[in-house]
Amino acid sequence: MTRIAIAGFQHESNTFSAIPATWEKFERSGVLAGDAIRQRFADSESTLAGFLAIAEQVSGVHLEPLVFTRLTPMGALTSQAWRNIFDLILEALRTGGRWDGVLLALHGAAVAEDCDDPEGELIAAVRALVGPSVPIGVTLDMHANVSQRMVANADITTVYQTNPHVDARAQALRCATLLLDCIAGRVRPAQALAQPPLVVNILNQGTDEAPMAQLLARAAEHQRRQGVLSVSVIEGYPYADVADMGMSFLAITDDQPALAREIANDLAALAWSQRVALNQGGLSIEQALIAALACPRGPVVLFDVGDNVGGGSPGDGTLLLHAARQSGIGSVLQALRDAQAVQACQEAGLGGTVNLMVGGRQDSRHGAPVPVRGRVHALSNGRYEATGPTHGGFRFYDDGPSASVITDEGWGLVLSTLSSGTQSLEQFRHLGLEPADYRIIVAKGVHSPRPTVAPIARAMHWVATPGVTTADLSTFVYRHRRQPMYPFEADTRHP
Ligand SMILES: [Zn+2]
Repeated sequence: MTRIAIAGFQHESNTFSAIPATWEKFERSGVLAGDAIRQRFADSESTLAGFLAIAEQVSGVHLEPLVFTRLTPMGALTSQAWRNIFDLILEALRTGGRWDGVLLALHGAAVAEDCDDPEGELIAAVRALVGPSVPIGVTLDMHANVSQRMVANADITTVYQTNPHVDARAQALRCATLLLDCIAGRVRPAQALAQPPLVVNILNQGTDEAPMAQLLARAAEHQRRQGVLSVSVIEGYPYADVADMGMSFLAITDDQPALAREIANDLAALAWSQRVALNQGGLSIEQALIAALACPRGPVVLFDVGDNVGGGSPGDGTLLLHAARQSGIGSVLQALRDAQAVQACQEAGLGGTVNLMVGGRQDSRHGAPVPVRGRVHALSNGRYEATGPTHGGFRFYDDGPSASVITDEGWGLVLSTLSSGTQSLEQFRHLGLEPADYRIIVAKGVHSPRPTVAPIARAMHWVATPGVTTADLSTFVYRHRRQPMYPFEADTRHP
């Protein structure tokens, strides 16, 4: 039997957010061990599902899921949260006996208060523990800020190659397959990472459209070459102020380090040539509402880029609601994180009338609270199941106690206790609101809502709202990123 350990943690840390990722929040989200990992993830489209699937495809493999936890993007991990996660994973690996291989399900854009590169530190510690001859396979999110240390201490690194991320399971299965090839001695992976001084703006990260689609097509060409095991285009995560922030390109060949280097550099050069297209802006709030009203029928989806929950925003931004009120638009559907408003709805009861100030509580950049009068339409525990395709392949959601309110002007508001991105239309439907009935849907996300909203949207527009995840990166003060870097220093040069 080939014994393979599975462990990991996933967090995308927005260092411009003031909301810390504490250990209590990870615990509430679930710090899972053993069979609980299988129960939560095996029947999904996530990374862990891909790892677990290898045992069904190849005989003689024994998988041991040890520890896994993940948390909605927000600010950096507290040092205690990071220490606990690190210790749990290392301890489980240490006491688990002798391993033939290790699979780590990571994100790649975590930051802790006292560590700029948690994934790099973890992979290095796992390497030190298992020794140089036990292969380590790592999977990363496409928003990873990849460090040389992460690559140097792993044998195989695969990365989601879709945004929205709908290939998490497939990339994990590929990682596990290559790990088995490595254990059996069929391949000797050589990894190379290229990090051009370049950011791709979140508005241009969709992998189905140019310029990202061209980069992925070139990567696929390289992937077909003799001796190439894997090629990854990595978008990076601009909301983390760390040295490795930015795009990167990773190639893995079978014992041909020069070829891996050549491929990674070629992709970096192609991205560099597209740097202007990779950094185009979005619509203003006014332009977005005009565009939405110009569409003869709804729903028109407006993506609230500055309040992108999947990027670490609080999800209680009200700027589009204020603008809709000013324009007299009555058919708007939106979710807002607002524990106080949920409580007021619970007290008023089903069908009760409420006068509320909603949203705008977490961060003034996202707009002030909006006064609304309305009727409590539904109440829930905030748990729902996504039935269609989702970003990251996740299926079960828990937004904490929630309520829906229909306001006097006709808005449908979902109010939740925890931050909730629009990853599934069940976010609205489980509270009795039908998204197809609305003229405008405000989605809290940039790419992650697309798999669920696209089938019903008559049009989709990305709105360059301010906030913790604004598309206008010039509003942030960076202290740790590399300099110079495009587009921050417009005259940046790259070989
Ligand atoms: Zn991502």
